[in-house]
Amino acid sequence: MPYTTGLHELGDSCFAYLQPDGGWGWSNAGLVVGDGASILVDTLFDLRLTRSMLDSMLAVTAPAPIATLVNTHANGDHCYGNQLVDVPEIVASAATAHEMTEVPPAMLAAPIVWAGPLSNWVAACDLMLAMDIDTVVPGHGPITDKTGIAAVRDYLAFVDAAAAQRHANGIDAWEAVRDIAREVGASPEFGGWGEFGRIAVNVDTAYRSLDPSYVTPNFVEQFRRMAEIEGATGR
Ligand SMILES: [Zn+2]
Repeated sequence: MPYTTGLHELGDSCFAYLQPDGGWGWSNAGLVVGDGASILVDTLFDLRLTRSMLDSMLAVTAPAPIATLVNTHANGDHCYGNQLVDVPEIVASAATAHEMTEVPPAMLAAPIVWAGPLSNWVAACDLMLAMDIDTVVPGHGPITDKTGIAAVRDYLAFVDAAAAQRHANGIDAWEAVRDIAREVGASPEFGGWGEFGRIAVNVDTAYRSLDPSYVTPNFVEQFRRMAEIEGATGR
């Protein structure tokens, strides 16, 4: 499946709308076309992007209009286009519904592991790995299969274990970030991944779940740290 902008047919009346390169804000969406009605999974970051996605879906949604919208989570790049989808019902988890109304947009603007513990994300990956599925449309990036889920699972499990080890040794979070970033950067498995600086937030998330009294730096500082990590590693 080519990783190009636009609608891609996956088979069985399922479609993926992709937005390379999958970096900040460049999210994917899904469409399941049924008999006379369709389900849209997520909208995009703004109205212009969402409008162009909906237009590209018209050929398949004209005979089967979108009747249900599912929002996978409350980050803006997956729901800020909701107002363009005229449906009686939006399906989302209770936590997503809460975030949509309670969390400020500035926080939602960042796709990433803001909420821990990382072990929950690993468990979610394991749940998907146990499903009888062949094709995976991730929230960002190219279409993949279970190998893509397994790679994310292994990365998160690695970061979680590395953070726990440093926390147990009394190393502070920011030092742990820089240390783990060096280790991840040198690894053949994860060293070439994009958005490398996210390790800063992922490790911070791990520290927060290890120690409830730990105070996470503010968002400006978190972005500064991500930029520093990416600058230091030349990514
Ligand atoms: Zn996202």
